[in-house]
Amino acid sequence: MSILSPCSSQPSAHAEDGVSARLAGPLQPLASLAYNLWWSWQPGGSELFAAVDEQRWNASGYNPVKLLRDVPASRLAAVSRDVEFVARSQALAGALVEELRKPWAEDTGPTPQKPVAFLCAEFGLHASLPIYSGGLGVLAGDVLKEASDRGLPMVGLGLFYRRGFFHQRLDRSGWQNESWIESNPEELPMRLEVDAQGNPRLVHITLRGHAVHAQVWHVQVGRVPLFLLDTNVVQNAPVDRWITSTLYIGDRAFRVMQYAVLAIGGLRALRMLGITPSTVHLNEGHAALASLELAREAVAAGADFERAIAAVRERVVFTTHTPVPAGNEHYEAQELLDLLGHLPAELGIDAQRLLALGRPHPTDASQPFGVSELALRTSRRANAVSARHEEVARQMWQSLWPGVAFENLPITHVTNGVHLPTWMAPEFRELLRRHLPAGWMEGDARAWAAVDGIPDAEIWAARRALRARLVDYVRTKSIADRLARGEPISYVEGAARTFEPSVLTLGFARRVAAYKRLQLLVRDPDRALALLRGPRRLQLVIAGKAHPSDEGAKRLVQRIFGLKGGEGASSHVVFLEDYDLAVAHELVSGCDVWLNLPRSPLEASGTSGMKVALNGGLNLSVLDGWWCEGYEPQTGWALPAHPDLGEEAQDAQDADALYGLLEREVVPCFYGQSEGEVPCAWVTRIRASLRKVGTTFTTRRMLGEYIERVYRA
Ligand SMILES: *Cc1c(COP(=O)(O)O)cnc(C)c1O
Repeated sequence: MSILSPCSSQPSAHAEDGVSARLAGPLQPLASLAYNLWWSWQPGGSELFAAVDEQRWNASGYNPVKLLRDVPASRLAAVSRDVEFVARSQALAGALVEELRKPWAEDTGPTPQKPVAFLCAEFGLHASLPIYSGGLGVLAGDVLKEASDRGLPMVGLGLFYRRGFFHQRLDRSGWQNESWIESNPEELPMRLEVDAQGNPRLVHITLRGHAVHAQVWHVQVGRVPLFLLDTNVVQNAPVDRWITSTLYIGDRAFRVMQYAVLAIGGLRALRMLGITPSTVHLNEGHAALASLELAREAVAAGADFERAIAAVRERVVFTTHTPVPAGNEHYEAQELLDLLGHLPAELGIDAQRLLALGRPHPTDASQPFGVSELALRTSRRANAVSARHEEVARQMWQSLWPGVAFENLPITHVTNGVHLPTWMAPEFRELLRRHLPAGWMEGDARAWAAVDGIPDAEIWAARRALRARLVDYVRTKSIADRLARGEPISYVEGAARTFEPSVLTLGFARRVAAYKRLQLLVRDPDRALALLRGPRRLQLVIAGKAHPSDEGAKRLVQRIFGLKGGEGASSHVVFLEDYDLAVAHELVSGCDVWLNLPRSPLEASGTSGMKVALNGGLNLSVLDGWWCEGYEPQTGWALPAHPDLGEEAQDAQDADALYGLLEREVVPCFYGQSEGEVPCAWVTRIRASLRKVGTTFTTRRMLGEYIERVYRA
C-alpha cells in the first residue's frame, strides 16, 4: 500500500484509539477530523470543535486531540444528542473522506509512487502543533496544505521537538523571559509508525561513531503525510535522546546532529516506509546533508563518487530562504568530521574531497563547511524566494561557479506565497464567495476582476468587523498579560479601554531580529507619540519574540514596550506577548496597515504582509523581498531602499520617510470622509491590493511555479 493512499491516514495508533474510544457512535467522525489537520483550513472547522466545549477548546490551545481527551464524558454525551452538531460533524468528516479519495494530479511530474520529499527543519501548520519558530516553518506548513489541496504528490520530512516553541513573557520592565512547555505527543494530532507487534519502527544513523536511533511520527495534513523524526527513544543514550529535544537548539554540536537526523534519518525513514522520492526538496540549507546520504546510496550501489554526485544532482532541488549569514550555517572541518567521520570511506573519497563540497572555495582548506554551499553544489535547481532575493543570492554565491557569467548562474526564484484558505478570515472569504465567480480560490485573474464590482460599503463593513474583533482580542489579551505581569489593578482594568474599533490600526509583528529594524518605530519618540495622540490618531499593536540568547533583541523589545509609557499613548500602543500562529491570525486579519521595515536587501521575501492583504489590510513597507513585486502605487505604500548608504544613514532616512508617509498620506486617506462614511479612496486601495495578492502571492501560484520551474525542470 502506498503511504499516500487514503487508508494510511485512518486512525490506528494507541493515542488515537484512546480518543476514538471516548467518542460514542454519532461522535466518531470527530476522531478522524482531529487526527488530520485538514479541519484547520476548512470553513467551520474550528467552530465545530469550539462547539464541543468552548472553554476547554480555548484552554487546549485550539487542539482537538487534547480537547477530546480532556472533555468530560457528560459533555460528550450532551453534544452527541445535539442533532445539529452531529450533522455538522458528519458533513465535515464526510467531506474529508471525499478529499482523501480524490485522485492525485497527474501532470505535475511526481507521482504517488514517486512523490516529492520536502525536507524542512520546522513546520508551522497550526498553533496546536508547536514545532515552528517563524516564517520558514509557516511557509513549509502552507506548502504541505497547498500540495494536499491541489493533489501534488508530496511527503514532508521534519523533526519532532518536544520543546518546539518557547513562550514569551515580559516582566513589568518589558524584559523578555522564556519558558518551555514540553509537548506531550499523546496530545498531538500524530501517531507513531509501528511494526506489526505495535513497536515503534526505528531508523538508525551513525553519528560520532555510534548508532543513533529515531522513531517516526506521522502527521496527516489533508492528503499529504508529514513524518517527524524523534531520537527520544530508550535505545539511545541520554545525550542522543536530547538531539531532537529543542528547535534550533543553541549548542552547535547538537544543532548539526539535528540536521543529520533530519536529512539522513529522514531519507532512511522514507526507505523504511517504502517511499522512493523522485525529487528531494531541501527547503533551506539545514537539510543539505541529505545529498550526502543519496550519494552514499549511489556509491553502495556501485557508482564512483563523481557519478554518484551527478546522480544526486538529478534528484535534489534547493530553496535558499535568507541572505542573513546566521541563516547560512558553517561548520569547521573538525566539527563535521567528528560527526560524520565514517562518511568519506563510505563514499570512497578522502575527507578533503568531502569538505570541498561545502567550502566556498573548494581548495582552500582554511574555509569552513557551509550547508548552503553543499546544497547549491549538489542540486539540479536552486531557487531564491523573490526576484530581488535571486539577485542577492547570485551575488552571494557567484564564486561557487568560477567562469560562469552572472546571468547564467543556476539560481532562479519562486516568490513565496501564502495558503489562502488558511489565512483569509471567514468574513472576507464569505464576502468574496458572494461576489466572485468560481475560480477565485485558485487565483484565476478573471474571477478576481470582479473585486471591482463589490460595493464600497460591503468591503468596509468586512474591514470594520475584522478590526472590531482585533480590538476585542487586544483588550482581552492585554488584561491577561497585565495580570500575569503583576501590574497594578488600575492599569489592568485600563486594558478594557485600550484601542477603539473606529481608529486606524497599525500592526508590526515579526521575530525581533536586527535586520527587521523594529527600532525605527521609536527612533523619534515625539513624532511617534504625536501620531498616537493626534485628533485623527492611530493605534499600534506590536508582537514579536527575541531569540532567547539575543540580549540586544531583548533590550529592543524593552524599548518598544516602553513606548506605552508615553503620556496619552498607553491606550493606543499594545505589545502582545507570545507571538504565535494564533496571535498572527488575529493580527493579520484585523490590522488596517501592516508595517515592514527590513534593512534592505536582507528580507528575502516576507509573507505576513501577504496575509494582511488577503484580509483587506494595506502594506507600508520598505521596498525589499516580495514587496518589490507586490507594490504598485494603488496597492499600498513603499519606502525606497538605500542599500548603499551606511546603516545609520539608512535608519535616519527610513524613519523620517515612515513618519512622513503616515502623516501626509496614510492618516488623511483613512480619515478622508466625514464620520460614519466610507473612505472611498482607502477602499479603492483595498481592492487593488486584494486583487494583486489574491492572484499572485498565494501558494496556489507558488506551487504551480515550483512544479513548472523546479520539480519538472
Ligand atoms: C507569516 C508568519 C511569519 C512570517 O512573517 P514575515 O513577514 O516573513 O516576518 C512569522 N511568524 C508567524 C507566526 C507567521 O504566521
